[in-house]
Amino acid sequence: MSGGCTGKCCEDFCIANSRFEDIEKWTVQYPLSEIADVMTMLIVIGHREDHDRYTCRYWNPRTRLCTIYNTRPDMCRQYPYDTTCEYCRLRLNQL
Ligand code: SF4
Ligand code: SF4
Repeated sequence: MSGGCTGKCCEDFCIANSRFEDIEKWTVQYPLSEIADVMTMLIVIGHREDHDRYTCRYWNPRTRLCTIYNTRPDMCRQYPYDTTCEYCRLRLNQL
């Protein structure tokens, strides 16, 4: 990562429909192996009105880097999808 990336998206993030009762919805869109990988990495750090806030167990706050970068889940590879990064204001294709 470069160009001003702070790794903020790994440090403190939300996932829509990520509460336990919503997980069944994920199976329509993602393979179980991907769901298991994501659920394993999540650490709840807070709550907002309708969703939880997470940090990732593979996030290194000292280096501000992902410790499993080469094998990170698709969710991480695709973020911030086709939008501008809300944290760094960078396009994914500039990384
Ligand atoms: S979305 Fe990309 S640029 Fe933004 S904080 Fe995350 S890794 Fe860095
Ligand atoms: S697996 Fe890596 S890229 Fe994905 S949220 Fe965790 S630290 Fe960030």
